[in-house]
Amino acid sequence: MENTKELRTWLNDMDLGHPLVIAGPCSAETEEQVLRIAKDLKDTDVNYYRAGIWKPRTRPGMFEGVGAIGLKWLQKVKEETGLKTATEVANRAHVELALEHDIDLLWVGARSTVSPFIVQEIADALEGTDKIVLIKNPVNPDLALWLGAVERLHKADIKKLGVIHRGFSTYEKTKYRNIPEWQLAIELQTKFPDLPIINDPSHITGKRDMIFDVSQTALDLNFDGLMIETHHDPDNAWSDAAQQVTPESLVQIMKDLKIRKETDAEAEYNSKLSNLRAQIDIFDHQLIETLGKRMKVSDGIGVIKKQRNVAVLQSNRWNEILGKMILEGESKGLSEEFVLRMFKAIHQESINHQEKIIKS
Ligand code: PEP
Ligand code: MN
Repeated sequence: MENTKELRTWLNDMDLGHPLVIAGPCSAETEEQVLRIAKDLKDTDVNYYRAGIWKPRTRPGMFEGVGAIGLKWLQKVKEETGLKTATEVANRAHVELALEHDIDLLWVGARSTVSPFIVQEIADALEGTDKIVLIKNPVNPDLALWLGAVERLHKADIKKLGVIHRGFSTYEKTKYRNIPEWQLAIELQTKFPDLPIINDPSHITGKRDMIFDVSQTALDLNFDGLMIETHHDPDNAWSDAAQQVTPESLVQIMKDLKIRKETDAEAEYNSKLSNLRAQIDIFDHQLIETLGKRMKVSDGIGVIKKQRNVAVLQSNRWNEILGKMILEGESKGLSEEFVLRMFKAIHQESINHQEKIIKS
């Protein structure tokens, strides 16, 4: 992508002085519900009012959205509250209807970003419009697929672009609904620092009491904004009930969040920061050194196993290591989840090494 500098213009032009906020229900349910929540959000920091009209659901038989009628309700929101509107589009017909109803911001959902055919169809339908288009990350942690979608829209001459980080699905059980894999979002920011990036803590956490923490992490990582699902009666929402917050909670969350400055010219700050970064560099170097040494020892075990014709995978030994390390990790302030993930990766690398030896 070239000329990425201008990708940010739409956001800079808004001159917000705070992160961009997109809020509103997961789904539009009734006209009354859509208008009621919008009125509650009218005099807050919310910049765009979101509501899903067509809902991509994992399994059939769940509520799949009210359809085009919901767009009329969003038009009414704009008339009655002045809030700008946002919805998800997943095909050409959605785009055309959304444009007809003057929706201000369109987003491409995680289940659409995985499909270059769908993304291309959306890009073609949007060609030449000046709408803001935000692309959610694909459900699987694939940066190239995410970037590919951004590029398709960029090629269709969409100038007001951005991405939404909503986490990634995983087979493993974690405390998140979709694991954040922050390093992927950071890699994207490093590659395209001018591409606005919004965090969606609602779909990352799946639980309303974790939304504040994830939002704060996102702001600490210089994200440009937040998309937070908001409903006047979250427990009775027709979709994503557990993760929606009330308008009052949203206001409280926004108040409690610390908005950090991207840089601080103050000399003292700079010298402290470079000092801490230098320490990190040293520890990272040591980590690699130690892992390299550990793998050499593991190779030695592989040699013995080969001589004795013993299986590479020794489950008992592995469980013993895990149990010990989780306890040790805990005493150093490391979460069980992190220790598990790290040792699974180390163990896998060990197995790969030993397998190579045994097959040689
Ligand atoms: C949504 O925003 O309601 C939604 C369906 O999100 P995602 O595409 O991230 O699952
Ligand atoms: Mn949702």
